[in-house]
Amino acid sequence: MNTTISGKTRLLCLLGSPVAHSKSPLMHNEACRLLGLDYAYLAFDVKEAALSAAVAGLKTMNARGWNLTMPLKTAMVSLVDELTPAAKLAQSVNTVINDNGHLVGHTTDGIGFMRSVSDAGVSIIGKEIVLLGAGGAATAICVQAALDGVSAIRIFRRKSAAWNDTVAFASRISSQTSCEITVEDIADSRLLSKRLSNAVLLVNATNVGMSPNIDATPLDQSLLYPELAVTDIIYNPKQTRLLMEASEIGCKTFNGLYMLLYQGAESFQCWTGEEMPVEQIRIKFFNSL
Ligand code: NAP
Repeated sequence: MNTTISGKTRLLCLLGSPVAHSKSPLMHNEACRLLGLDYAYLAFDVKEAALSAAVAGLKTMNARGWNLTMPLKTAMVSLVDELTPAAKLAQSVNTVINDNGHLVGHTTDGIGFMRSVSDAGVSIIGKEIVLLGAGGAATAICVQAALDGVSAIRIFRRKSAAWNDTVAFASRISSQTSCEITVEDIADSRLLSKRLSNAVLLVNATNVGMSPNIDATPLDQSLLYPELAVTDIIYNPKQTRLLMEASEIGCKTFNGLYMLLYQGAESFQCWTGEEMPVEQIRIKFFNSL
């Protein structure tokens, strides 16, 4: 936050429910302080039924932009004037830019993920990856990876009532990009092993292994091999059991901290046009992760 709030300070905010735990206000206010930008970022607990009233209020007050978290990312889609290609494909918005009443909806999680992969020195463009899970984060990753030119994404998920939705999503993204996307049963270890042998990167986008369930892992260590890079988008704990077991084997590994930082940095750039000082923010708020 700018140390002095003036009559000209522009509002940025997070809408969702719950929001009290969010690190976004810390990140964005610190970035504004470091760069001397005149914005203040707050978090508002807004349920889905109140979203359109909240958006109308933010427009009236000419807020510069806002983030959306659970459960509002899908509902925001119909309230913007324009969607980026990724937000349109994902049917999900986590960042809105307000240009004097004209609202543009973005989705930045996938951009954050792709930047974290590239930072880790792993090249996935034109190659195949295995993605575990099919929730909000997996969907964002899948869309951006497909748009950026990953050649095939093998989604492994649980068989459940949502299975057909994932199949429909995969076929929609495949048909609108040059990426082949398949949906397979995470319980089918033989198929998972076969897909992993053709992949350069395994991505865990399930909740499995997240604190406090740190003894859990989404797949058996015997399926891993040293040439495979492994990322867990979980960042708490810093090293999940999956990442520990992958490191033991000799795989290159990285967690989801930089995905988190870079998705915020992308939102920040959308609103301010400035690059977020990510390293200073990581050291100040996330040094233990
Ligand atoms: P979500 O929408 O609830 O999706 C969770 C996914 O995990 C679903 O596909 C779910 O499958 C699957 N899953 C849960 N338990 C499972 C199990 N025992 N076996 C197999 N699959 C299981 O959650 P999300 O928002 O995508 O978040 C997923 C994880 O990513 C969380 O740990 C979150 O902290 C992390 N995350 C990180 C970042 C970052 O910036 N680093 C950003 C977003 C999320 P079903 O559909 O069958 O339940």
